[in-house]
Amino acid sequence: MSHPGPASIKHCKNCGTAVRQRLPDDGDTRLRAVCPACHTVHYENPLNVVGTVPVWQDQVLLCKRNIEPRKGFWTLPAGFMEMRETLAEGAARETDEEAGAQIEMQNLFTIVDVPRVGQVHFFFLAALQSPVFNPGHETQEARLFSEADIPWDDLAFRTVKETLRCYFADRSKGEFELHTLSIS
Ligand code: ZN
Repeated sequence: MSHPGPASIKHCKNCGTAVRQRLPDDGDTRLRAVCPACHTVHYENPLNVVGTVPVWQDQVLLCKRNIEPRKGFWTLPAGFMEMRETLAEGAARETDEEAGAQIEMQNLFTIVDVPRVGQVHFFFLAALQSPVFNPGHETQEARLFSEADIPWDDLAFRTVKETLRCYFADRSKGEFELHTLSIS
């Protein structure tokens, strides 16, 4: 999972001319990246990040990142949604790519808005089918953590930290529900 800053197109995708931020002519009230040469308006919209909370007995699977940003920090398996896949398909794909984990997908668990960077993160609960993992190149190490061992200070992203907090809070209540959060 990568977290670029707010999207910013520098050059026209149509003709390569440097774009200007201005109001389009059609009554739109937001600044857009507009090409001064061919007049193409480049709309930039939030991206979906999809992932899972993979659980084995009383432990949760975390991946130690092998790529920037936040290389060496721990994350839940997650990444950008691709075209032509559903949220759940994307979450399963990322879990396979980053952890090589066999899972059974369960309910959507957290929806986390991150308006500052133009992202919405979706995490699903997932039941691990085995405690054996085969992480891909984006991951240094994939391993299970009990609640007491979660490396809270070495988590890669706040969306992951908040999702794990929700998970352990719900588990202690014995009831899992959908959480909607916003991180500024
Ligand atoms: Zn252009």
